[in-house]
Amino acid sequence: MEYLNFIDRCKYIFGLNQSISAPTAEQIDMLYTLAERMLKVNESMNLTAITDVDGIILKHYADCLSVSEYVPEGAKLIDVGCGAGFPTLPLSIVRSDIKITALDGTAKRIEYVRSTAEMLNLDNVTAIAGRAEEYANKPEYRENFDLATARAVAALPVLSELCLPFVKKGGAFIAMKASQGESEAEAAANAIKLCGGSEAEIKKISLYGPNNSIEPRVIIRVAKTSNTPQKYPRHYSQISKKPL
Ligand code: SAM
Repeated sequence: MEYLNFIDRCKYIFGLNQSISAPTAEQIDMLYTLAERMLKVNESMNLTAITDVDGIILKHYADCLSVSEYVPEGAKLIDVGCGAGFPTLPLSIVRSDIKITALDGTAKRIEYVRSTAEMLNLDNVTAIAGRAEEYANKPEYRENFDLATARAVAALPVLSELCLPFVKKGGAFIAMKASQGESEAEAAANAIKLCGGSEAEIKKISLYGPNNSIEPRVIIRVAKTSNTPQKYPRHYSQISKKPL
């Protein structure tokens, strides 16, 4: 990946998306290093299907950074099902004020996230290999975060049961979805209520790409208004077979 071309494309694509706070020159350098490393590791491990420069900048970076406005100063956040580090890694690059716990059930991906955060000197990232439904029942993780994020992990009824138990009362769960997110929010109303959330707030956004392309996205924010009953989350087999 050519460095100067990446810098140009990054400026251009963030210029098309004025509602997303643009990274600084130093942060763009870090995003470049991240892209280079991801593509290199992607040759031997399945990290991403998006490998072109514009796609990485728009569909990974701009998409992940669109959530930053929902993240309060100094927040303690858990990114559930972070996979190859999205939104964890771009968000931790632009938001050194927050602390992120990146959780994923696939140990190899978590090892990649941990070593990449170390390479980029991102000391605000802790990467953990484990299942959300198991970690949410550990006292040091349960209701211990200001925010839980999840991008492209599961349908909202399932995600609500996996994510809301991590969030403190007064905090929020944020799901990053493609356009089907709006209908999922209706289907998840019961799961959200049972797990201590209030009615979902839905924000539709557009990611503007080259050649007038538009990618619709939905950000769903659920405020945590009461404690999650101890019986949630259930075992994953029950969660997926019988969503709340
Ligand atoms: N958030 C990343 C992104 O936007 O690119 C990854 C998305 S990937 C499609 C979904 C990830 O969620 C996988 O890495 C999978 O291992 C993880 N995952 C799914 N269910 C999980 C669970 N119950 N606990 C932990 N990780 C889970």
